[in-house]
This record gives sequence, C-alpha cells and structure tokens, in this order.
Amino acid sequence: MQTIGLPQAQPALTLLYPRAEIAERVAALAREIDCDYAGRELLLVGILKGSFLFIADLARAICTPANIDSVRIASYGSDTRSSGIVEIRKDLEMPIRGRHVLVIEDIVDSGYTLEALCNLLLLREPASLRVCTLVDKRALRATEVSVDYVGFTLDNGFIVGYGLDYDERFRGLPDIYLVKSDA
Ligand code: 5GP
Ligand code: MG
Repeated sequence: MQTIGLPQAQPALTLLYPRAEIAERVAALAREIDCDYAGRELLLVGILKGSFLFIADLARAICTPANIDSVRIASYGSDTRSSGIVEIRKDLEMPIRGRHVLVIEDIVDSGYTLEALCNLLLLREPASLRVCTLVDKRALRATEVSVDYVGFTLDNGFIVGYGLDYDERFRGLPDIYLVKSDA
C-alpha cells in the first residue's frame, strides 16, 4: 500500500489525459480563440506555476498575435483546496489598460484564485478580460467567476502532470494523472 504525504512516499497515479488528447484539446482551444479574436491582438496572462506548459503549448498553437505575461498567486487553504484568501506574489510586468487580456489557468476549482485575480485585473481597465483553463472542476465551484474556454471538465479528483504538481512533484510529466486518493 502507498501513502500520500509521507516523505519519499510515491502516490499511485492513474493516467487520465494522455499527451495526444491534451494536444488535441489545446489545438481546438486555439482554433476557438483565433476565431473569437480575429483582427485583434491578445495579451496572454499565465498563472504560474501550474499553467507553464499549457501557456507554452497554447501560445504556439494560436495564430492571433499575442504578448505573454504572467502572475504568481499564493492561495491559502489545505493541501488540495484554496480558501478564498489569495495573495499576488508576482505581478504583471505589462500594463493592461485597453488591451484584450486572456488569463490562462491550469485548473479552476472553487474559483477563488481566479475571482481574486480577475477583480484585480478589471481595476486596471482592460478592453476585455476572458479566461481559458485547461481543466474546469465546475462541480466544486464556490464563486460566480466565468470561464470562457475549457480544455477538460473534471467532476472530482486531484490531478498532476503537464505543469500540475503534488507538493512540487510531477510538474514535468507530459501526461495528466489522477492521484489515487485512498492510496
Ligand atoms: P481554486 O482557487 O479555484 O479553488 O483553486 C485553483 C487552484 O488550485 C489551481 O490553480 C491549482 O493550483 C490548484 N488545484 C486545484 N485542483 C487541483 C488539482 O487537481 N491538482 C493540482 N495539482 N492543483 C489543483
Ligand atoms: Mg494554480
């Protein structure tokens, strides 16, 4: 039996989204985004660290001209759920006033992280503000935050790989795995 949380413990992982499926969804999202932003320029705002591979792939898949910036947000809560208390650890480097901003998130769960960021960004008066997430856990949503582009919808479970970590591990895995909760 394997136990999560102990030093050196190796949690059991089950393949959920293989790399080919992720690539397909990224390509489909890029087509949707290109269609919606035709004739405009984008500012992609990645939320670090979890979305770093998603940003890299999406930025290469879209044809819309785009600048890229990032923010880093700390949300407080348990290991696996955020609480609503969020802190900007690294702000944007670019002004966003009058620009079309697309926030790139790895996972929207309760929505607290995203809601806090969107509220902050809206104060800076972008021309538009939309959100693209790789994974939407909408069944667990605790806020009204709206998500415009969704890669995958997941009802429950904790996932790792393709940028997503468990205690800073597994970010480099090219596929996405479910962490077995009863391990
Ligand atoms: P929220 O503020 O929406 O509750 O939480 C969103 C953040 O929690 C995500 O950006 C991500 O960092 C983290 N998170 C939520 N679910 C998962 C998950 O299944 N796996 C990993 N690695 N992080 C998650
Ligand atoms: Mg995150």
